[in-house]
Amino acid sequence: MSKTIAIIGAGQMGSGIAQTIAQHGMDVLLADVSLEVAEKSVAGIDKALGKLVGRGKIEIADAESAMKRITPVGDYDRMTDADFIIEAATEKEEIKKVIFEKAGEKLGAHAVMASNTSSIPITRMANYSPDPARFIGLHFFNPVPVMGLIEVIPGLATSDETTARTKSFAESLGKEVVLSQDEPGFVVNRILLPMINEAVFVLGQSTAGIEDIDKGCRLGLNHPMGPLQLADFVGLDTCLDILMVLYKTTRDTKYRPAPLLVKYVEAGWLGRKTGRGFYDYSGEVPAPTR
Ligand code: NAD
Repeated sequence: MSKTIAIIGAGQMGSGIAQTIAQHGMDVLLADVSLEVAEKSVAGIDKALGKLVGRGKIEIADAESAMKRITPVGDYDRMTDADFIIEAATEKEEIKKVIFEKAGEKLGAHAVMASNTSSIPITRMANYSPDPARFIGLHFFNPVPVMGLIEVIPGLATSDETTARTKSFAESLGKEVVLSQDEPGFVVNRILLPMINEAVFVLGQSTAGIEDIDKGCRLGLNHPMGPLQLADFVGLDTCLDILMVLYKTTRDTKYRPAPLLVKYVEAGWLGRKTGRGFYDYSGEVPAPTR
């Protein structure tokens, strides 16, 4: 019998996770704040798979069967049959808490509840779920269908069995796994976010413009993408949320968000998902905004 995976939060990450899981032959229930939002996300996945077919990356029959496996849902009722419930909603603890409490009522006796959080402590959030031994961090990278890594983060109460099952599930999606202790930012974001933040400070101090900062890191550090472009991919609101979690949990001022990052978020310039961040995505080629 094929596995069923429920995903709550159908934004950039939730839709990428849903697409990847469906492409690996598992059934997906995809929820967001309403059925309409979940349906819109499924339409986006259809478009993304269509592009892959157009570029000859996948067969049309595989795209069609992946689409058949994804069901948008307006509530959590059907999640009782899910093997995993993966939360991928906005990076705010109060939002995630309500989701874990509500979805926890539907969590099957042997199912695992996982969070795709970028930074919020797993041990603390486990207490919002019905069984902390079956709660774990499962941190995908953006764009999920392309990126080869998943971080698995057991909390203090997570059982070894849950960790082993989650690791094997992540590997079944064709990804490599890095196990991280439940420390702020885990491994990758602990390193990445200070770099993105510093790039915004460099921009705010007019040391260089957007394109030169990104070019400097691409060519000088051999990174495939500059930090400001990467921040646009992540979402500037998400970057700010992660920095605030790092700052509050460690009380280390090295994580204080750059004022210019706060301004961009206040302006609603959140990156690619809103069409404008450090770059403007309205034209054929992204154009720097400063
Ligand atoms: P996003 O803004 O694209 O999507 C968030 C989604 O959550 C939205 O569709 C929103 O409607 C939904 N949502 C909000 N409240 C909800 C609720 N109560 N119930 C159900 N859905 C709700 O953000 P994203 O980039 O997809 O990030 C989602 C999560 O994934 C965050 O925890 C983020 O830290 C994490 N994450 C992000 C990245 C990244 O690069 N963007 C990478 C790894 C992990």
